[in-house]
Amino acid sequence: MTLPGLDFSQAEPSQPQVLWIGCSDSSFEEIAALGLRADETIVLRNIGNIFLSDGPTCLSTGHYALHVVKVKHVVVCGHYGCALVKADSNVGLGDPWRSKLDILRSECGAKLNGLPADDRDRRFVELNVLAQMQVLAEIPEVAAAIHSRGLKIHGMVYNPTTNKVVRLEAEEPAAH
Ligand SMILES: [Zn+2]
Repeated sequence: MTLPGLDFSQAEPSQPQVLWIGCSDSSFEEIAALGLRADETIVLRNIGNIFLSDGPTCLSTGHYALHVVKVKHVVVCGHYGCALVKADSNVGLGDPWRSKLDILRSECGAKLNGLPADDRDRRFVELNVLAQMQVLAEIPEVAAAIHSRGLKIHGMVYNPTTNKVVRLEAEEPAAH
């Protein structure tokens, strides 16, 4: 485990304890970079690690992870250098991803203005992760699991240059 304050090692062996929401075009190395084993995770990937609260794949995977497996952690993990989550443009994305990111851009524009291009993209990746944490926290069954059994939601960004995962503080104001 490389991140302080997180302990993913309390479950039974081979019992998945993490629902991992990652991006489709990451290097797929971020889970290993955290020291997690494949059998400890239920992985949901889509473009831009966006949790679609009205999408059947996200909802069914989330329901399975939360209510059948009863994972203890949900991790939303973006990655720097993402080809899909860009501060200034959609790269051929269709809906609902295009509209979700367009809305986020409009909401957090003030936080991006004045930053150099690379920093804008990096910050936008972080803001997107924070936004997805907020989306998750507002889903009634997720909120119930947080309240009843201490489910935790974590926001992280993988840096492929350093092979490290940066943890985003949940207390940081989300994008909207
Ligand atoms: Zn990506």
